[in-house]
Amino acid sequence: MNNHFLPISEYAAEPIKFIGFTQPHGLFLAIKEPELTILQVSNNILQFLGFAPEDLLNQPLSKLIDNEQINIFRDYLYQQDLQSSNPIEFIIKIGDKNVNFDGVIHRSHDILILELEPTILDKSQVFFKFYPLIKLAISKLKGADSLLNLCQILAKEVRKITGFDRVMLYKFDDDGHGYVIAEEKLEPLESYLGLHYPESDIPRVARELFTSNYTRLIPDTSAELIEIIPRNNPITNQPTDLTNSMLRSASPCHIQYLHNMGVGASLTISLIKDQKLWGLIACHHQSPKYLPYEIRSACEILGQMASLELANKEDNEDSEYKIYLASIQAKLVEYMSIDKNFIDGLTNHEINILKLVNAQGAVICFDGEYIAIGNTPKQKDIQKLVKWINENLQEAIFYTNNLYQFYPDAENFQNLASGLLVVSISRSQKNYILWFRPEVLQTVDWGGNPYQPLEIVEDEGMQVSPRKSFELWKEIVQLKSLPWQPCEVSAALELRNSIIGVILRKVDELQLLNRDLERSNNELDSFAYIASHDLKEPLRGIHNYSNFLIEDYGETLDEDGQSKLRTLMRLTQRMEDLIDSLLHFARLGRIDFSMQQTDFNKILDNSLDLLSPRIEQENIEIRIPKSLPKISCDCIQMSEVFNNLVTNAIKYNDKDKKWIEIGYIENTNPLQFYIKDNGIGIKSKHFDTIFRIFKRLHGPNKYGGGTGAGLTIVQKIVEKHGGKIWVESIYGEGSTFYFTLQSDEL
Ligand code: ADP
Repeated sequence: MNNHFLPISEYAAEPIKFIGFTQPHGLFLAIKEPELTILQVSNNILQFLGFAPEDLLNQPLSKLIDNEQINIFRDYLYQQDLQSSNPIEFIIKIGDKNVNFDGVIHRSHDILILELEPTILDKSQVFFKFYPLIKLAISKLKGADSLLNLCQILAKEVRKITGFDRVMLYKFDDDGHGYVIAEEKLEPLESYLGLHYPESDIPRVARELFTSNYTRLIPDTSAELIEIIPRNNPITNQPTDLTNSMLRSASPCHIQYLHNMGVGASLTISLIKDQKLWGLIACHHQSPKYLPYEIRSACEILGQMASLELANKEDNEDSEYKIYLASIQAKLVEYMSIDKNFIDGLTNHEINILKLVNAQGAVICFDGEYIAIGNTPKQKDIQKLVKWINENLQEAIFYTNNLYQFYPDAENFQNLASGLLVVSISRSQKNYILWFRPEVLQTVDWGGNPYQPLEIVEDEGMQVSPRKSFELWKEIVQLKSLPWQPCEVSAALELRNSIIGVILRKVDELQLLNRDLERSNNELDSFAYIASHDLKEPLRGIHNYSNFLIEDYGETLDEDGQSKLRTLMRLTQRMEDLIDSLLHFARLGRIDFSMQQTDFNKILDNSLDLLSPRIEQENIEIRIPKSLPKISCDCIQMSEVFNNLVTNAIKYNDKDKKWIEIGYIENTNPLQFYIKDNGIGIKSKHFDTIFRIFKRLHGPNKYGGGTGAGLTIVQKIVEKHGGKIWVESIYGEGSTFYFTLQSDEL
């Protein structure tokens, strides 16, 4: 025999509702309205009523039921809610005996379906025995203090009412599989409590039936199947849709499944929350067991009551947590608005973003920086993950408790981040908040091997048959974290919106500040310009007078007096140089640049020409690896940038064999230029200082002097062009000055 497995989807497609068979404990009649002609009957009518199917097909219903009852029956058919009349009592004459039946009606598309089951209970028995039980059960359910307790009570009460050997409460998880959360059973039976069942045990099609038919009884799992005759309904020429038929036979696969579990009779009651199947009350009996319609509907009422209570309990348990999350969120928003920067607000307090979604680690990716708290993967892993998120995430939020399934690299950090919840703050800027949950190695007790749900047994004509082994099957579910609760997901989303609000507000504030700053910068430029301009004149006077003194009265002064005068002249000269530099710098802030397409090779040639005496004198090797591009800029100002940087590269070099390399890095935008030397180098602690005005790292006479304004001026020019400037250097080996310029060609 050759066994192989059928994909779940195929099993799910099994057309249960068109199965065309009923169970033998009742009669099935499909009837055409308004004439009430019998179109189809179940092939057990002979045993029940002594008629052969052919005697009834295409005959009026009155052939079976007397006219008085037919008239009452017709009244029921006009009622809006057809099912509210169920069960309808019928007395049918069989030979010379009157037999009572419970009639249950519904319409399947336009066909009236009448299902008859022999009456077993008398009505007073139902009233006195079962309704008190139901009443008591409902009041007990109301007293439950938790969801689990409620389920336990429910299982107990249903068992009391039905007398089944085992009653289980079976809850579906989001991923479709289910597990037993409460159980009441005969003592010697093995417990199924806590067992998990794969989704395929109750396939989608079966679940749909459970949402339209709240109770389902299979009184005898070994009973023969009864054919509906004719197979196709003569009006539709198709098998009748048995979705709402209570007699509908179970699929052979389901029957086999029940047999494998040793079940002789089964009753299933649906638990519905928000119109979805939340779970099932599954009742099993080892031997056949029939329950009359009234008891089934009592169970159905209990199921519906319990469904409401369940929803209530679940929502209440949820809402306490929701209130807690809302308080965390309020705190975070408060911190964000108080703290200097919103990231501090989210990470620097005892209440931080980890608490918002109950995560063990979180990373805020903002402006290219990664701020991590708690247990998170390494930065290089985060960078890769963020890249993947950026390429694949379209929505504002994404979450999974099995990241590996989407992103196989997650295997490398499953103990930190098997679960991921991410909100995007700005996709274009790659700004995200990521929350992580570690892998939870949970032991799942499967009721049988979940990966072997169905078998096709070939020599039985490709029959589908469910798995046969129901031993406890322990499986370690790997690479999964605890799932993110819906309220945690919405808390994350709400926080995202608050962050965006805070950022937008900060941008507004920043714009105002920028405007203020620009104004005071302009005022400062004007002040520096006017001050340096006005200072120049008296300074010139001092210089000239010192000169006169030396020339005209120098001989009357002794050597010390002459030396002091010379110092005075040197200092005024230096002062003048400083003022000139300041003036130059201040002027830069006041003038408008005239931008035009400029060939940088020309600028560089001019600079090198200008500096050629010194280059030749010191025998400096000039390296230009490739010709420079054309870029739109103010060519006079840009010449100054090159002059300054090349001059410095010449000046600050103590090597015998000096060289300077001037070039740019291809395929960067903005374009990145550099001027590199093998000079004295700069200690990294001075990388920023050297760009401040009048800051020099050496005494006035070393390396040919200078005012310390050159780099400040260069920086101002580059920044006015929208670029940046910085230095990289190894002290003692040489420096490279980089600056960027936006290129139109890229
Ligand atoms: P100045 O050259 O007039 O002193 P700069 O603003 O051009 O002023 O430079 C500031 C300081 O930065 C210099 O005094 C020098 O110490 C340092 N510096 C600038 N360029 C270089 C270079 N290529 N190599 C080493 N040090 C440099």
